[in-house]
Amino acid sequence: MVEKRELLYEGKAKKLFVTDEENQLWVEYLDQATALNGARKDQVLGKADLNNQITSAIFEALILKGIKSHFIRQLSDNEQLVTKVDIIPLEVVVRNYAAGSFSKRLAIDEGKKLNFPIVEFYYKNDALDDPIINEDHVKILEIADSQEIKTIKAAAREINSVLIELFDDIGIRLIDFKIEFGRTADGSILLADEISPDTCRLWDKETNEHLDKDVYRRDLGDIVPVYQEVYTRLKNK
Ligand code: ADP
Ligand code: UDP
Repeated sequence: MVEKRELLYEGKAKKLFVTDEENQLWVEYLDQATALNGARKDQVLGKADLNNQITSAIFEALILKGIKSHFIRQLSDNEQLVTKVDIIPLEVVVRNYAAGSFSKRLAIDEGKKLNFPIVEFYYKNDALDDPIINEDHVKILEIADSQEIKTIKAAAREINSVLIELFDDIGIRLIDFKIEFGRTADGSILLADEISPDTCRLWDKETNEHLDKDVYRRDLGDIVPVYQEVYTRLKNK
């Protein structure tokens, strides 16, 4: 049984602890919701368990399709064990439909289907407010080299295909999502962090109801019943 040791990092949604295993981290999800780069913050009871359970279910579904991630196993309702990686400071966003910052920046109506899925890179840097960057920027900033960029984009597209089908089966349209990758001790690239309603836009296929963090960002109501709805559908799949 792996042992939890000292706190390594406290983020906006999770705490990471080192363990007695050099290459494994203990992740604790928090009952906390934030928006506007942390400027808005609220305690949301029940969110930690739901995001941990949803992320675990999704990483398990990905594994069945041959997509590896940092996920090792769920430890409790709000904790999981993961492989430690050096996070590549990129927010990799995949979009199937226009929404959010994409709609605003390019004046394209939310909900418009894109002709093909697009992959975008944002530089994960709170001080700079996570600016959008292109592949040349990624190379100039020495965030990743050409081969790694290729690997990341291919993985992002493959993950998108699996997630589209997974959500479609439970009556949900995958609008867009953000993922993160890291480098393992042997230098290979691995999907990390979380995949949850905090990091995806999920719309009910019939009603277009938002089943994701936009409910919090846009003050549309309580997120716990909405996240619960996503988890219930995933569990009963
Ligand atoms: P933030 O840092 O944006 O506030 P979180 O509260 O979700 O976000 O914090 C989790 C942090 O842990 C993120 O910075 C994420 O990049 C990092 N992380 C996720 N998975 C791993 C991993 N397997 N190894 C190391 N760091 C990770
Ligand atoms: N996203 C995320 N973390 C971020 C920014 C975005 O998980 O720090 C997700 C967001 O939930 C959405 C997708 O990435 O599913 C695209 O977000 P967008 O660029 O439209 O940003 P937003 O409108 O949320 O500012």
